[in-house]
Amino acid sequence: MNGTNTQSPEQACQAFVGWLDRRVVAAGRGDGLDRLEVAPSGTFWLGRLACEDEVQKAAGDERSEGLDPCAIGIRLRPANPPSWSMTVIVRARGWVKDGRDGPEPDKRWWRTGLVEEKVPVSVGANGGSFGSAQLAAAFAAVGAQGLTAEIRVDVEDWHQQTELVVQLVNTSPQRGLTDSHLYETEIEISGLATVPFQMESLPDSFRYDRAVPAYGVNVGVDVVAPGVFRSTDTVTVQTRRPIYWDDTYAKPDLSFTTLARDPLPQLAKLVDALAEYDEAHWSPAVLDARQDAEGWTDAMRAEADTSAQAVFAELDRLRTGLALLESTPTLLRAFRLMNEAIGDSTRGKYPDWRPFQVGFLLSSVRFLAEPADEAKYVDTVWFATGGGKTETYLGLLLTAAFYDRLTGKTMGVTAWSRFPLRLLSLQQTQRFADSLASAEVVRQDHEVGGAPFSLGFLVGQAGTPNKIVPTATAKHDDVSPDSPGMPDKYQVLLRCPFCRDENLRMRFNRQVWTLEHWCTNKSCRYGSRPLPVYVVDQEVFRFLPTVVVGTLDKAASIGLQQAMRGLVGPPRRFCSEKWHGFTYAERAKTPNGCLVPNCQGSSRELPMDAKRFAPTLRLQDELHLLRDSLGAVDAHYESLLDHLQYETTRSRAKIVASSATLTGYERQVDVLYQREGRVFPQPGPRAGESFWTVPTDQPLRRFVAVAPRGVTLEHVSDRTLDTLQRCVRELIKEPVRVCAEAGVDPDHAEMLVSQYGTNVVYGSTLYDVEAAGRSLGSNNTVDGINVEQLTGQTEFDEVRAILERLEKPEDDFLERVHVVAASSMLSHGVDVERLNTMVMLGLPLTTAEFIQTTARVGRTRPGLVYVLHKIGRERDAQTFRHFGPYVRQGDRFVDPIPITRRSRRVLDLTIAGAVAARTLMIREPASKQRLSTPEKLRDYLRIIGLTPQEEADVVAAVFGLDGAEDSLHQQQILDWLKEWFVDLEDPTMKTNFIGEIGPNPPMRSLRDVEATAPIHD
Ligand SMILES: [Zn+2]
Ligand SMILES: [Zn+2]
Repeated sequence: MNGTNTQSPEQACQAFVGWLDRRVVAAGRGDGLDRLEVAPSGTFWLGRLACEDEVQKAAGDERSEGLDPCAIGIRLRPANPPSWSMTVIVRARGWVKDGRDGPEPDKRWWRTGLVEEKVPVSVGANGGSFGSAQLAAAFAAVGAQGLTAEIRVDVEDWHQQTELVVQLVNTSPQRGLTDSHLYETEIEISGLATVPFQMESLPDSFRYDRAVPAYGVNVGVDVVAPGVFRSTDTVTVQTRRPIYWDDTYAKPDLSFTTLARDPLPQLAKLVDALAEYDEAHWSPAVLDARQDAEGWTDAMRAEADTSAQAVFAELDRLRTGLALLESTPTLLRAFRLMNEAIGDSTRGKYPDWRPFQVGFLLSSVRFLAEPADEAKYVDTVWFATGGGKTETYLGLLLTAAFYDRLTGKTMGVTAWSRFPLRLLSLQQTQRFADSLASAEVVRQDHEVGGAPFSLGFLVGQAGTPNKIVPTATAKHDDVSPDSPGMPDKYQVLLRCPFCRDENLRMRFNRQVWTLEHWCTNKSCRYGSRPLPVYVVDQEVFRFLPTVVVGTLDKAASIGLQQAMRGLVGPPRRFCSEKWHGFTYAERAKTPNGCLVPNCQGSSRELPMDAKRFAPTLRLQDELHLLRDSLGAVDAHYESLLDHLQYETTRSRAKIVASSATLTGYERQVDVLYQREGRVFPQPGPRAGESFWTVPTDQPLRRFVAVAPRGVTLEHVSDRTLDTLQRCVRELIKEPVRVCAEAGVDPDHAEMLVSQYGTNVVYGSTLYDVEAAGRSLGSNNTVDGINVEQLTGQTEFDEVRAILERLEKPEDDFLERVHVVAASSMLSHGVDVERLNTMVMLGLPLTTAEFIQTTARVGRTRPGLVYVLHKIGRERDAQTFRHFGPYVRQGDRFVDPIPITRRSRRVLDLTIAGAVAARTLMIREPASKQRLSTPEKLRDYLRIIGLTPQEEADVVAAVFGLDGAEDSLHQQQILDWLKEWFVDLEDPTMKTNFIGEIGPNPPMRSLRDVEATAPIHD
């Protein structure tokens, strides 16, 4: 190719994706094969039609219906009353099996020639059948004697308007043929005037084009020319990569360098552009015009008016943020330092913010200036399209961290950032570490006082240890300095956050009892000392790092572990020994409150006002996942965290969340946090476009819906992956032929092998994922497919090793990971740019999971996603029918989030944690003595005269269950506390632990609820 005509990598990828898809569809239909050794009905999953007799006989057996259909069709709305005429082109083939004495005894099945018949149809209000003699003759003519079919037209009047269902039905006899299926079937309808269907009953419908030209029956429909409808075996939806600025507006310079130097003029420019856009799209006059032109109903107009209000409120918040930066020098300085740090941490990989990221920072920054007022709101960042969530978080976090330091918070936790359950990835943790390291360098450069910025890692079971126990006293489950795998096993960072060197060394420092990450690079800019990252729970409590990242379930520790107090308020004191850190309540094992075993030091006054230890921010990632039982339990624990923070510091943390979905977030936020929800950005005036995102022509992902026929989903998944692997191997072996066939420039071959050589197979359940991994090993026709699993069960260090291999693939293709069998673990924070093809085993249970998961492929190159529908399930069948709108407008197919704080089953589990946490963190410090045993606690409660009713009232208020309508809940709490008091007074109680008093102990993990509690009010 000559210089002016060079194909871009993007174009090459798109052409290659098209070729891959053609090959997969061909494998599904049997295109291009002449002979087969096995029965075609056990192999092909597309284009086939079983015979009607067989399907009717099997109708009693529910599994067969829909799985191996006897008809394909197109549903249309005629523009005129009866009668109607049209032309239907039918395409199909048969497969016939030779006798034993046939020409190829090893491959006895052969494919017939193509039947291609134009069937004229003229039909009245009662419908009818057409073309059966014509089609029978055509099958006989290509060698498939005995196969028969017809065009059947049904007229349906039970909707408001008449609908025609035009179907090709396989009417062949069940017996007497070697195979009664039709293959490679297709119909094409022309010559009928139609009107589109209107999708009804959808929220904020003013944003969407609701017209659907036709619906498929067991197939998709392409409108190949005006008035020409053709069936398709799969339903393909191509999405487009958005850009983040609309060039009709003057673009501000949002580079990190400029915003670090002189941000205000650029921020003003951004706000002005937004104001201009909002005026141009949301003013009453503009909405009037759209209402007229698009025929909105009054209800649609009311929806638009409500949205306009929210849009202008958002604009006001950005203006407020800008004004605060203008008027508050400290805030401005924090913002500039943050930009310098983020710029440094990207290492030039990208030079600027996406405008919506800056928009969010502006809209939320007021929480630093007016913390009490802003704590009333939960700000949710909504990521419908595109990435950049983590960077947005980090921008907010670093602004807060600098602002804290500049206003006298010289140490302690600025933010506790929580990810649902095990969904915190090492990659995500590394990004936090990278930006904090850059912030630390900037802090030193600008001589901002206080402790170095540091990172803590606080995750539930199977991550890192809660504590390191001296070898001599270690019991079975304890981790000691001499435990197997120590200390290397607990390496969390993938590289040095300061110099990016990958040669880290783990070390356990017995002197100060810390588990340390060391960078081995001699010229590392952090110098030769342990990196400021703490991965053992107790070290997090001892050092209270600037930012703690962790999993949500860790909140349960608040009812078990008194040193968790450091995450909601002040620690007790400070150890005199160097590097021992903060101290907590005195216990037999920690007589001076220091968590270092056998510490001989003494404790000292805290070096900072105790109130300032309150964390400034609590972040919640993937808010939409806090639903059902997990949401119900967390609602109580969030309230408990708020309560403990307020009681110890008279402050409330600001809560910021991210969510992939919007539906019902107001109620969700209200239930979870007892705060008002605000979301950024507001959705734009039309689907897929807003001030912050503009669609382009660049391909993003090609979604292909597959409704497998006649064979199992596993078979289809195996065959699809097999074909994808075969294609890439052909590209390696025969680059010239494949490049010519696919229409790509051979210069791109190596890149294509890398970008499309690793496929993801995704299952919503562990069972599906494991089955997929196993069967692929045994069923493929390509040799040596290397399969790796990434699920919640995958060990920590294994995950690290797999990610490493995915990011830096082996030179030899045959040694690489070819297939990743993954569960939802993949959908959160795993960013591997080489993952561009995915096979989904059935639709995930929630639309949010679908959006999140498919966003893992096509990060920078065009992606290809096969969605294999479990077509026997109602929801999958529905979605197959609406696949186009489902993909394009996924955000409004998101189901409202089921959540309540009024579940009595959950209350049973959470009371204990609230009572224990209040005892440990509020009552004990107030008592000025140890309340570590039931006796001591009983004596103290007698002195202060606490009654069950008093404590029950407080707990009910903490949980937000103190209203008149919650009397049952209040009684339940009181009953629980009465038992607790009885235990406390019982001289025969054997326990030494206050956590074991009462009907049940505090939850050990928020996950404990999953199996036990169906959730309702
Ligand atoms: Zn380093
Ligand atoms: Zn100590």
